[in-house]
Amino acid sequence: MLVLVACPACGTVMGRCSEVDELIRDVRNPAFDPDQSICYPDVPCPYCHEVPYGQFRAATESELRTIGLSGTCYRRWHA
Ligand SMILES: [Zn+2]
Repeated sequence: MLVLVACPACGTVMGRCSEVDELIRDVRNPAFDPDQSICYPDVPCPYCHEVPYGQFRAATESELRTIGLSGTCYRRWHA
């Protein structure tokens, strides 16, 4: 299951795969490239490097609308 999370420092919305706890940088175009994988909670945000991945919060609906995801997608991913 993909959970949408946001970096609390820069607000970038990313995905987190709950099964393997892997960060997905571009939720609209998920790339499962092992070289790009971020699987550890102490790895910092790939965009601002301010906050470790383990401290990301759930993305808000307004943030999801900003990146073009509808509430329908949001609910599906959280079901
Ligand atoms: Zn960030």
